[in-house]
This record gives sequence, C-alpha cells and structure tokens, in this order.
Amino acid sequence: MRFSEKNIPGSLNHSLQIKMADEVDDTIFGKIVRKEIPAKFLHEDEQCVVIKDIHPQAPHHFLVVSVKELRKLEDAVETDQQLLGHMMWVATKVAKEEGITNGYRIVINDGADGGQNVYHLHLHVLGGRKMNWPPG
Ligand code: 5GP
Repeated sequence: MRFSEKNIPGSLNHSLQIKMADEVDDTIFGKIVRKEIPAKFLHEDEQCVVIKDIHPQAPHHFLVVSVKELRKLEDAVETDQQLLGHMMWVATKVAKEEGITNGYRIVINDGADGGQNVYHLHLHVLGGRKMNWPPG
C-alpha cells in the first residue's frame, strides 16, 4: 500500500510527503513488477509475477511477488485472502513446471524478526535439496 498525505503524520509539505512515500515504499520488486527494470518471469498474471532469486539458497529458488504493493504479510487485509491463496497456488504450479519432484519449502519472511529484507510481499519457493529444521 502506498502512503498518502492522509497517513503520513505531521506537517510536511506535499512534495516532501510524496518523496517520503517513494523512498519508503519503492523496492527492487516494485520496479520489477512495474517492468521498470528487466527480469525474466517464470510466470506472470494480473496478481503476481515469479522470478528466480538472485542469490539462490537451493538448486531451485524462486520468488512469487505480488503485483499489489503490500509491504509485508502482516499488512494484508481481509480482502487480500484471494491474492494470498493465488500466490500459493502459483507457487505449486511453477514448482511443477520447474521440475521440482521431491518436495519443496515455501517461506515468507515477515518483518524484522522474520528476516525480511525486501519490503514488498513475496513467497520464497526452495527445492532440489533436503531442507533443515528448525530453519534458524
Ligand atoms: P527477503 O529477505 O525479503 O525474504 O527476501 C528477499 C530476496 O530477494 C532474497 O532472497 C534476495 O536474494 C532476493 N533479491 C534481492 N534483490 C533481488 C533482485 O534484484 N532480483 C532478484 N531476482 N532477487 C533479489
């Protein structure tokens, strides 16, 4: 969700508020989803895109990224339920297409303690090796 003048508190002038909103909300995934920087999509629809992770942590590691600019899972609202289910469904579809046959792990890192680095909602799908538990 983008900030608007209404939800940035204080007495900042309009142009500064807009600048803050861009700095706060824009991420590399926002630029990828909007096709401002090129990326190869394993899947694309009106709700999400799928890209390979730039630093793979397993032989297969791809990301299902929402088109909607939700900063994190915690920010999802009731009407996002269909989107969240759709992203899981797309994860399973692309896992099949990528030939992951022996199981995989789906991860959402949410917020600081969750280890989230890019504040634009995404699922990780990791496969092609045995995963450890607890994840650490
Ligand atoms: P997080 O820590 O937010 O759950 O995951 C962010 C993921 O995005 C990391 O696994 C990181 O390797 C990946 N990543 C960061 N920048 C880029 C990028 O520019 N392109 C791609 N494809 N992945 C990225």
